[in-house]
Amino acid sequence: MANRIETKCIQEGWKPEKGAPRQLPIYQSTTFKYDTSDEMGQLFDLEAEGYFYTRLQNPTNDAVAAKICALEGGAAAMLTSSGQAANFYAVFNICEAGDHFIASSAIYGGTYNLFGVTMKKMGIECTFVDQDLPEEELAQYFRPNTKAVFGETITNPTVSIFDFEKFARLAHSHGVPLIVDNTFATPINCRPFEWGADIVTHSTTKYMDGHGVGVGGCIVDSGNFDWLAHKDMYPGLTTPDESYHGIVYAEKFGKGAYITKATAQLMRDFGSIQSPQNAFYLNLGLETLHLRVKRHCENALAVARFLEKQEKVAWVNYGDLESSQYHGLVTKYLPNGSCGVLAFAIKGGRDTSVKFMDQLKLASIVTHVADSKTCLLHPASHTHRQLSDEQLRAAGIAPDLIRFSVGLENVEDIIADLEQALEQIS
Ligand SMILES: *Cc1c(COP(=O)(O)O)cnc(C)c1O
Repeated sequence: MANRIETKCIQEGWKPEKGAPRQLPIYQSTTFKYDTSDEMGQLFDLEAEGYFYTRLQNPTNDAVAAKICALEGGAAAMLTSSGQAANFYAVFNICEAGDHFIASSAIYGGTYNLFGVTMKKMGIECTFVDQDLPEEELAQYFRPNTKAVFGETITNPTVSIFDFEKFARLAHSHGVPLIVDNTFATPINCRPFEWGADIVTHSTTKYMDGHGVGVGGCIVDSGNFDWLAHKDMYPGLTTPDESYHGIVYAEKFGKGAYITKATAQLMRDFGSIQSPQNAFYLNLGLETLHLRVKRHCENALAVARFLEKQEKVAWVNYGDLESSQYHGLVTKYLPNGSCGVLAFAIKGGRDTSVKFMDQLKLASIVTHVADSKTCLLHPASHTHRQLSDEQLRAAGIAPDLIRFSVGLENVEDIIADLEQALEQIS
């Protein structure tokens, strides 16, 4: 009998044996002990399973990765030090110099920069596409060296919704996997594997942690993409790895191939591990994820409905609103709600938006998003302040856009705060 997702939030991951600690212990140890030199040699050859050095694997981290894997319905998972590291590894694990991939242009700014600037320097080219284009038009962006397609379930900060089925068809008809950053939706509201995604990433820094205490990331593999069926495209998985005595990951590890390769090569060489202490905090967050996400969505919908009725508000984008262009996609892919983040603007443009924000008392101006405390950010003045209005529009971000992350406070108090701030602007 398969447990429901609320039960998985609590019960998956750490499964103590008789006499072991009931709560997930923090294995605060860099290394692990063996009795013979040969035993340890086998671990280095990936011939035996076990822990030897925390840069590669740690039991606390693995238990938390296993929980997220169960929540997403995946085959294997790994934690990373941040969402940035997760997205970098997810792509770099299957792309090398000379390769190309396709990403939605509406993705998180940090990922946009990673793909468009930093990975370009590594010889990997990314084409950014308008994710709302029809399928036939998007198909034109595929090249013979295209190796992956990347999108976000709900984009940060424009909260646009990803059409999974359209992109899964496009990716698979070109023989490449679909990678989806599921940070804002979380597996409580959407499980991308059920809609054809092959690999899921997370910035666990957001709702999964939920309290704004630890930066972290995670990669989950569905195990569904058949690397061996596209042998020439993915030599890293389908030809011998000389740094591991000629192992062929896709042959030796089956559904675990992609994550094993990412751990054995990328974690070994780049070392972006999550600290076991942070993984422990993340696990506490995951235990209440199902309760929190539900409340975030209820509160956000009430705030969105309030804002929509205000004379001084220029526009509101929240997919759960009937008025949103994404309402159809929310109904299909996120029937229980999207997330607690919405975007809106005050009439009068950039300057009025800033004036309005400065009047807020309960909602705080911070870079963070998606945790228990209501917070907001004006991309044009903060994360994207180096861009002109024109450049902002080209990046799909309206200069007056306010990203509002609705927290877990009583929603009447959040609305009262917005109300008094609106009253103070002319
Ligand atoms: C925050 C965020 C990231 C980056 O994650 P960090 O944990 O800050 O490195 C990636 N994707 C999305 C959708 C995000 O919101």
